Amino acid sequence: LKEWEPEIPRYLLELIRNEGLKNGLNSDGCLCGKVKWEENPLHIYRCVDCFDCNLHCQECLLHHHQSNPFHTVEHWNGRHFETATLYELGLVIHLGHSPLLPCIGHSNVQKFTVIDTDRIHLAAIRFCRCSHTIPDRYQLLRAQLYPATLTAPQTAATFRFLKFFQMLSFMSKVCDLLIIHLLCINNKLAGVCDRVLFYLGKNVR
Ligand SMILES: [Zn+2]
Ligand SMILES: [Zn+2]
Ligand SMILES: [Zn+2]
Repeated sequence: LKEWEPEIPRYLLELIRNEGLKNGLNSDGCLCGKVKWEENPLHIYRCVDCFDCNLHCQECLLHHHQSNPFHTVEHWNGRHFETATLYELGLVIHLGHSPLLPCIGHSNVQKFTVIDTDRIHLAAIRFCRCSHTIPDRYQLLRAQLYPATLTAPQTAATFRFLKFFQMLSFMSKVCDLLIIHLLCINNKLAGVCDRVLFYLGKNVR
């Protein structure tokens, strides 16, 4: 511990640095070259789940997350980063086709609640409706999303969450209510947690 003590001020600086814009590897502007931060100080976003420390404009953030729609993102409000959501920023998940080559005959956007390992997300989903279409619940399963109902599902859990929950309940006997409440701590979207608890048949209040 004595050896580490002189490092305390620098460690604190590095940790605080992560809270601001200076930790971004591209502190002048977005990598697309279209957006300069000095001219657009309120158009800065970052992802806390992606390994890179790049700052993005909204367009690039959405483009980079077509294949990672359940990442947690943040928006620079001029003073600090605050949690944003890919759903509210306009990300649409296309099922049945490659994310970058969506179905040409897709459905309307359907609002979903998706339970993942670190939080509960809202998601805008479009189903395939072209000649390759299959029932929606199978399209969800093929995207590793387990639908809550057989018909007209509006809630799903990621396979990753189900495996995590299974392991947690085997090892620690944690109950479903506790883990949903834990995920809700990370969630500021009004009504989302209530909807999940309703599906689990739990009292909302
Ligand atoms: Zn950009
Ligand atoms: Zn990300
Ligand atoms: Zn299609």
